[in-house]
Parts: sequence; C-alpha cells; structure tokens
Amino acid sequence: METARAAIVTGGSRGIGRAIAVELARLGYAVVVNYATRPDAAEQVVAEITKSGGQAVAVQGDVGSPVDRDLIVDRALTAFERIDVLVNNAGITSQGRKDILEATEESWERVFNTNLKGPFFLSQRVANEMIRLMARNKIPDGKIINISSVSGYAVSTNRADYCMTKAALGMMTKLYAQRLADEGITVFEICPGVIESDMTAPVKEKYDRLIREGIWPIRRWGRPDDVGRAVAAVVSDYFPFSTGERINIDGGFHIRRL
Ligand code: NAP
Repeated sequence: METARAAIVTGGSRGIGRAIAVELARLGYAVVVNYATRPDAAEQVVAEITKSGGQAVAVQGDVGSPVDRDLIVDRALTAFERIDVLVNNAGITSQGRKDILEATEESWERVFNTNLKGPFFLSQRVANEMIRLMARNKIPDGKIINISSVSGYAVSTNRADYCMTKAALGMMTKLYAQRLADEGITVFEICPGVIESDMTAPVKEKYDRLIREGIWPIRRWGRPDDVGRAVAAVVSDYFPFSTGERINIDGGFHIRRL
C-alpha cells in the first residue's frame, strides 16, 4: 500500500482532539483535522504535524450537518485515498448550563446534533467506505473510536442534554461493534474524566478544589495527551481481541466507594 494509513479526527483542532491528531501523526497516520469554526487553530495543528514530517489537512465541517459530514469524508478520500481510523471526538457542552427545569430545546438540538447524531451518521458513512476499501484491498481493517465522558453515567443536572448524549454514545459503540465485527472493523469508547481544555476552563476553580479533596483517586487534572495515548494504544492493536469496549481515562473516577 502506497499511502500512509489515514485517520479522521473530528474536532481535531483544539483540546483532546488536537492531542489525538498529533499522537496519530506521530504513529505515521495521515490526519484529517476537522474543525467547525476556528481555521486558525486547525491550521496550527496541521503546521505542527507537517513540521515533524507528518501529513495532515484541515477540513472545516459541522458534524451535525449531513452535507458537511459528506464533505469531510470526501476530502479525506481525495487527500489520502483511504480511511483506516475515525475518531468521533467533536463535542460541545450544554448551552448556558441551565438547570434541568429550565433547559431549552435550542440547547438540546445543538448538543444532540453535534454529540450524537453527527457521530452516528459519520460512523455509518465511514464504515461503508471502510468496507468498500477493504473489498479493494486498500486497507487491512478499520477502527472507530468514540470519545464519550464520565457524564454518560455521572449526573450533572445543569447539563442534562450533554449527559444523555454521552450515555447514548456507549450504546452506539456497542451497536456498531456488533454490526461491524464481521466486516473487520472494531469499535471502542474512550471515556475521559475531567480533562484540561477550553471546555473545562470555566469550571477550573471548582475542579481544582474537588481534585485537592480527592474526588478521584489520582489527584490531578486529566490532560489531553492522556486521551491521545489511549487512542494510540487502540490503533496500535494492543487490544486485538476486543470490541465494544469502554476504556476509562479518568484517574479512577469510575470506582464506586464506601
Ligand atoms: P474543546 O476544547 O471545546 O474542543 C472542541 C473541538 O470540537 C474543537 O476542535 C471544535 O472546533 C470542535 N467542534 C465543536 N463543535 C463541532 C462541530 N459541530 N463539528 C465539528 N467540530 C466541532 O473540547 P474538549 O474538551 O477537547 O472535548 C473534546 C471531546 O471530549 C468532546 O466530545 C467532549 O465532550 C469530550 N470530553 C471532554 C472532557 C473534558 O473534561 N474536557 C471530558 C470528557 C469528555 P472549533 O474550535 O473550530 O469550533
């Protein structure tokens, strides 16, 4: 195979997605760095990757839009002629973080479109492309990785829509894992805890205090790179007999205790 293995990272321009894109490039993947609104941030990631000798292209597209999803996939195929890995990372938090009794349909629509409908239909399109590419011996196998959250099981009553989308990503992972195993595609859920990024910047002081008090066993903030390295482990085939698996990257937050 002539071209390097290729990956699409949605929301690859900042935070966790950026770390995933850089890590995949380090492993030799050509990377589609998708973004929604900030081309400057995406171009910075592309520059960082190409400076280190890797391949990357920035592709604007709202994952909630069917037209944009097709554009992201078409651009990936035009640029690299293959897609080996899809990382559904793009996500937004609840608009205005309103109490569940005040939550709006407007926030619901945006959060569900971005965090759930986008990943579901992007996975569908990419899985079909991967099946076609495998039939032509262009790729050996495929991987889809969904970035969920501890908010999929830990309630925040001021972010109900966000929590529900993240819970649904767990089921989506299992559904695609079951359907795609015979097609040579494995599917993983990576479940981060609280990670330093623009998304968590507004709640930094709250979590500084909770971490000091021991809210999770490993007393530090998660870093985008913690998630990037987990993605690296999955794509490096360190879990060859697994699919539909959830990998917690949360400092041990998921442990229940008495
Ligand atoms: P972030 O710093 O806010 O970055 C979000 C990224 O997603 C940006 O690249 C943004 O692009 C892109 N994006 C937003 N809406 C998009 C859309 N409709 N279509 C395409 N791209 C879009 O977020 P983050 O903290 O890195 O979070 C990344 C993922 O991890 C999210 O799914 C989040 O729910 C999940 N997560 C985060 C944490 C945490 O503590 N940070 C914890 C658990 C899970 P633009 O800048 O161009 O808009």
